[in-house]
Amino acid sequence: MRLVERAAWGAPATSPAAYLPSARGVKVHYLGSAYSSRAHSLCDDYVRKIRAEHLANAKENYVDIAYNAVVCEHGYVYEGRGLHKRTGANGNAELNGRDYAVCALLGSSGFTEPPDAMLAGLRDAIEWFRANGAAGDWVGGHKDGYATACPGAPLYAWVKAGAPRPGGTGGGSDGEDQYTVRAGDTLSGIARRLDLDWRELAKVNGLSEPYTVYVGQELDLPESGGGTQAPPYPGRSAFVLGRRHQAVTDLDRQLVRLGFTRHHDGNGYQPGPLFTAYTRRNIADFQRSRPELSNDPDGYPGPVTWELAHTLRR
Ligand SMILES: [Zn+2]
Ligand SMILES: [Zn+2]
Repeated sequence: MRLVERAAWGAPATSPAAYLPSARGVKVHYLGSAYSSRAHSLCDDYVRKIRAEHLANAKENYVDIAYNAVVCEHGYVYEGRGLHKRTGANGNAELNGRDYAVCALLGSSGFTEPPDAMLAGLRDAIEWFRANGAAGDWVGGHKDGYATACPGAPLYAWVKAGAPRPGGTGGGSDGEDQYTVRAGDTLSGIARRLDLDWRELAKVNGLSEPYTVYVGQELDLPESGGGTQAPPYPGRSAFVLGRRHQAVTDLDRQLVRLGFTRHHDGNGYQPGPLFTAYTRRNIADFQRSRPELSNDPDGYPGPVTWELAHTLRR
């Protein structure tokens, strides 16, 4: 776990919040406001801003940041009130005494799809409360037992699935082209071991400085020349505007790899399961770039678009 202790992000070392002997479990939250994806170097600032806003909230009369932990999109776990401290975030005194509260730096608009690194960080936080904070097995969302949209549909779906560590179970059909990060791994170490170029490995996975990888993260491996195979075409029903499908995330990764990311909501184009108008326009750009596809650039991937998106080298 990448824990950022209170003192490291600029809070007093110990929270003045009330003692919590044990908890039923952990409630997951999101910000519930607009948020944009940002470089990790700006995450500390944002956590400080949350604490300042909570301290300034006269109605709630908070003694500290309300959450026990905050997790950024890069998978770092910021110590909030921390272990054995009663949260202020769950809605009322009874709920605050029942469960810990962990908040994802995820918006209700802008940056709304939790990336795998964030899910791994949330999972780290949950396991931290269980192992060191006497939290029980229960895991839920803020909305469980309280009238709120928090933690938002994409994150709540993950919570209801049992808050699984990404890459641990289920999902992709392309296991042979992936590597699951283990404890002690670094990007350059993995690249060396698998005889790959680390820059290529970073590019395929959309990583930029500081090139951090997380235990449990699944890295897509760069294709090594000819003979690359696309996974089976999932069918047109996987690509419906406004609907989610794992194949959309997969295709998005190829669009990012190939550089077709011009259309986005202002916060950059991110792989995710939702087929949006941006997805469609980026796919249309890709189709226009290929002679095989350019006479029908409708933005909906058929078998040829699917195949080429997976097998073309940049
Ligand atoms: Zn909440
Ligand atoms: Zn971060």
